[in-house]
Amino acid sequence: MGIAGKVTAPVARNVVEAVGNTPLIRLKRASELTGSEIYGKAEFLNPGQSVKDRAALYIIRDAIARGELKPGGTIVEGTAGNTGIGLAVIGNALGFRTVIVIPETQSQEKKDALRLLGAELLEVPAVPYANPNNYVKVSGRTAEALAASDPNGAIWANQFDNVANRQAHIEGTGPEIWDQLDGKIDGFVSAVGTGGTLAGTGIALKERNKDVKIALADPLGAALYSYYTTGELKSTGSSITEGIGQGRITKNLEDAPIDLAYQIPDEEALPYVFDLVREEGLILGGSSAINIAGAIRLARELGPGKTIVTILCDYGNRYQSKLFNPEFLRSKDLPVPEWLERAPSVEP
Ligand code: PMP
Repeated sequence: MGIAGKVTAPVARNVVEAVGNTPLIRLKRASELTGSEIYGKAEFLNPGQSVKDRAALYIIRDAIARGELKPGGTIVEGTAGNTGIGLAVIGNALGFRTVIVIPETQSQEKKDALRLLGAELLEVPAVPYANPNNYVKVSGRTAEALAASDPNGAIWANQFDNVANRQAHIEGTGPEIWDQLDGKIDGFVSAVGTGGTLAGTGIALKERNKDVKIALADPLGAALYSYYTTGELKSTGSSITEGIGQGRITKNLEDAPIDLAYQIPDEEALPYVFDLVREEGLILGGSSAINIAGAIRLARELGPGKTIVTILCDYGNRYQSKLFNPEFLRSKDLPVPEWLERAPSVEP
């Protein structure tokens, strides 16, 4: 158990080789609540501290292999932040420049991380996808303009509709989970930003055992829960979570093997990440909260004695100013954990 029993970790020649192969961490409270074994895949341990390093790596590799991304070239992307951080981490290691278009509503911590990495940041108003000034559309136009003017060329990562994204999970996340549990898995649950994680991991697990249940955990404000339950893309409400909440069927989501869907309000999900900080030593972001709540719902639906896996998408420090800020939580009428109100102090 613990460090003494740990299998020797591999040596990575650079940061790129340190992407993936993340541990599964048993979630104690969630497991005890449901009588099932619930595990979180610790994607916050990737070099860019999120699951999106995987998609960034596969998108870059694919663009190099197709001859589109050349030495010294530029990678342009529209992102809620984590994909941009992954692209910048890998871009820095491999010698590519990154230009990131981000909705201004995303956390300051993610913007700071991008600037620290040297990414050029273009902040745009958060407007719906149908609006031509939506961050995804702006990033596509920016890439086109740079490709025409930059002698080293530029590519658009296009994470939503570039299926190199989900390939990272077909070849990485899914098989890793299967091998870690020796195939003893009954269900997998994930929220959707691009859909790469849910679709890719779902495809890989179903290929190995078609009976593994694949479930969507959708925050309020997204349209996928309605799509997978009624066939209609419709959204209501809102969520403070970042990086998830999709309003359309992206290319990465096409033909995703989704068996079940849950719609999860922030009020239900956030207490799980609050408890995890003090009770299990896990500091996670809001999308992980939706995922854990989804895993608990799936475990309850399947009955006790099962093994369920979800994704711990990113590290909570990335949201210190929002998710772990009592004033922010109160402004959104969300519950504030009692311990968060009290600054830590030591009696002399
Ligand atoms: N959680 C966070 C914090 C994210 O940034 C993202 C990606 N935007 C996701 C979850 C969802 O991952 P995917 O894009 O693979 O659906």
